[in-house]
Amino acid sequence: MAWKDDLDQFMTGLIRRNPGEPEFHQAVYEVAANLFPYIQGKQVYKDAQIMERLSEPDRIISFRVVWEDDEGNVRVNRGWRVQNNNAIGPYKGGLRFHPSVNQSILKFLAFEQTFKNSLTGLPMGGAKGGANFNPKGKSNGEIMRFCQSFMTELRHYVGADMDIPAGDIGVGGREIGYMFGQHKRLTKEFTGVLTGKGMEFGGSLIRVEATGYGTVYMMQNMLNARNDSFEGKTVSISGSGNVATYACEKVNQLGGKVVTLSDSSGFIFDPKGIDESKLDYIMDLKNVRRGRISEYVEQYPDAHYFEGKKPWGIACDIALPCATQNELNQEDARELLKNGCMGVSEGANMPSSLEAIKIFQEQKILFAPSKAANAGGVAVSGLEMSQNSARISWKEHELQKLLEDIMQNIHDQCEAYGRESDTYIDYVKGANIAGFIKVADAMLAYGSI
Ligand code: NDP
Repeated sequence: MAWKDDLDQFMTGLIRRNPGEPEFHQAVYEVAANLFPYIQGKQVYKDAQIMERLSEPDRIISFRVVWEDDEGNVRVNRGWRVQNNNAIGPYKGGLRFHPSVNQSILKFLAFEQTFKNSLTGLPMGGAKGGANFNPKGKSNGEIMRFCQSFMTELRHYVGADMDIPAGDIGVGGREIGYMFGQHKRLTKEFTGVLTGKGMEFGGSLIRVEATGYGTVYMMQNMLNARNDSFEGKTVSISGSGNVATYACEKVNQLGGKVVTLSDSSGFIFDPKGIDESKLDYIMDLKNVRRGRISEYVEQYPDAHYFEGKKPWGIACDIALPCATQNELNQEDARELLKNGCMGVSEGANMPSSLEAIKIFQEQKILFAPSKAANAGGVAVSGLEMSQNSARISWKEHELQKLLEDIMQNIHDQCEAYGRESDTYIDYVKGANIAGFIKVADAMLAYGSI
């Protein structure tokens, strides 16, 4: 088939031009494998080289971040901002502070973000940034000095109508506050340059909950389409950060039972379920005391802790990977299916490997890819931008309704473009095509330069 040759040629060129960037290759391949057959009959996209242009970031900014630790030592890290595409709105995407951060990871995230933001229906382009800084074990003062130094350089490239970063792994409300304060100090302007801000200075209600809630709404919509629901379902979640904990909260509200949470050291299994009060304990443990998930079993001795393991061997109906990329491989996928898992909704970005996704699709279980399933967070960030521009604050119930509507709309777009001849819905294909069309048509409208 001609499109297969085109795809091979495209990927060969992409890998040659971007050596040593496996995460970026993986993310582009996942999209291209759906888009090449789709654009086969659409010469206009081929002539305009839309896929080649979308997979070449508009620009990548890399910079030195110098800061001082509590002992007075000078420390040096590297910061980045990858601005992938602003065809449908200003660049938008989170900042990640983690020792594993490198250019490949940020390029994959910025590429994915472009399609995700398009799917929300809001006017936002795609970007991502961060630093190879490890916040673990750092004092509050060290975090503040790092954030201030990071923003001292980043401010040259961001702005309320240009590029609006947000949080991601290692960047929560505290870090956004330090960066926003530094931006304000340096520019003398109070503008909506960041989202995820505190409520006192322009933040939006339900932003912290939005990604986790949205991931669960996506699964709920897929279940509804099969006349099913969360009621009585056993759910396995990985991670114990922002996305994982709010996904857990929403599953509980919808009548499901969450039996696992994890961090990078291991996972806990609580057969009785992680109810509201246990979740309060975890949120305090992780967000206030900055502790480890292993401490849970000291508080709740009926639960078990598995050091160095992932939760995918535990029997569940639904799995919500909410920690990090490539945390669920083909063995994990087989294990989940063997134990009766019937649905996966990705809270983290690209948590399932390509091989794992293939297994889920072959078995035709419900599978929502991250660019659709975790778009609730950036959607509410988009709503925060609107509130900042209009200098207003929407009420919680208004934002809840908007989030639910946006997730329903994302589900419906995936369904419309992903329906296969046998009534199976390929949500990966649906998300890729639906996200692509809007961006591609805007690019066509601008001409080819
Ligand atoms: P947090 O920093 O709040 O939490 C991350 C969680 O994942 C922690 O429990 C962390 O454990 C765990 N984790 C990190 N790295 C690894 C690893 N290599 N192996 C196993 N566990 C790991 O981040 P978020 O909850 O904000 O983000 C989680 C995922 O969701 C990311 O993929 C992010 O890109 C994605 N996402 C987040 C959005 C948001 O609004 N926050 C929006 C859209 C996507 P530990 O404490 O040990 O580091």
